[in-house]
Amino acid sequence: MDIKGTTQIYGIFGSPVRHTLSPKLHNAVFQKKGIDAVYVPFEVPGDGLVEALEAVRRLKIRGVNLTIPHKEKAFLYMDEVPEVIDRAVGAINTVSLKDGKLIGHNTDGPGFIEDLKETLQFLPKGKRVLLLGAGGAARSAAFYLVKEECGELFIHNRTPERAKGLEDYVKKYIPTAGVKSILSIDEISGGPLDLVVNATSCGLKEDDPFPVNPDVLSRTKHYYDMIYSSQKTRLFREAQTRKVKSANGLGMLIHQAFLSELIWFPGEERKSIFASLRETRRSC
Ligand code: NDP
Repeated sequence: MDIKGTTQIYGIFGSPVRHTLSPKLHNAVFQKKGIDAVYVPFEVPGDGLVEALEAVRRLKIRGVNLTIPHKEKAFLYMDEVPEVIDRAVGAINTVSLKDGKLIGHNTDGPGFIEDLKETLQFLPKGKRVLLLGAGGAARSAAFYLVKEECGELFIHNRTPERAKGLEDYVKKYIPTAGVKSILSIDEISGGPLDLVVNATSCGLKEDDPFPVNPDVLSRTKHYYDMIYSSQKTRLFREAQTRKVKSANGLGMLIHQAFLSELIWFPGEERKSIFASLRETRRSC
């Protein structure tokens, strides 16, 4: 990597950020495309976001991704959030600096939908989906599943009030949405599910509990785990044992990275950016 006086800085703010694959993905695109830029992980604790965003302006960092725990708080500090659906989601994972202004986007939701289609050949329209979690990733997934005309969306979360909050929040923007928060999987009546999505951060550690009773996997055709670690979560392994068609979040990570690249470099040719990300995926 040839760092020069002209090299532009991109990066990711998160805590913890050590495990992130994003630098590998984005730096590979920069190298492949001959873009004079570098992508750096920045460990930014929960109470350090405001200063870190101020540093984006001061140091003219051209773009950053945001990960746990910053996506929702960052939304409050954007100068502009151009997309209506991103404003509804209320969480930001991609920031670009334009004329000194912080412009916020969320590429998680569209990245998730793209990968459902690509990896699981799953189209949400009319389908019955159980979403686990009510954090930033779940919120983004919920809005995009409803946007894709998902038939019924059940939301289950460790803290039930947050699941109910997400239900109310989606319905506030889309009153016709078929969304229901549930305390237990026994509340899901009326036949099999088409998809279960793990949008919790639960399952990375071997001694993590199940975010839901794994028996629900016997009632679904597809399972998507947003966690992208090469090590499969316990719930993922349960899905495979039950021969449920399953995918982890690596494809979503690739798609959201691709969409971030398009925001930062609108003039670059799409095909070769995606090809480079896919190539890097193989070595992840
Ligand atoms: P948040 O911190 O906003 O939300 C975490 C969610 O996990 C909450 O619903 C929380 O429940 C739940 N949770 C945490 N620990 C447990 C536990 N022990 N048992 C049950 N539930 C638990 O995180 P995000 O929404 O931003 O991210 C969620 C996951 O999705 C992460 O693993 C992240 O890496 C992944 N992700 C993957 C992406 C990809 O591209 N593949 C993109 C974005 C996220 P509670 O409300 O009760 O605290």
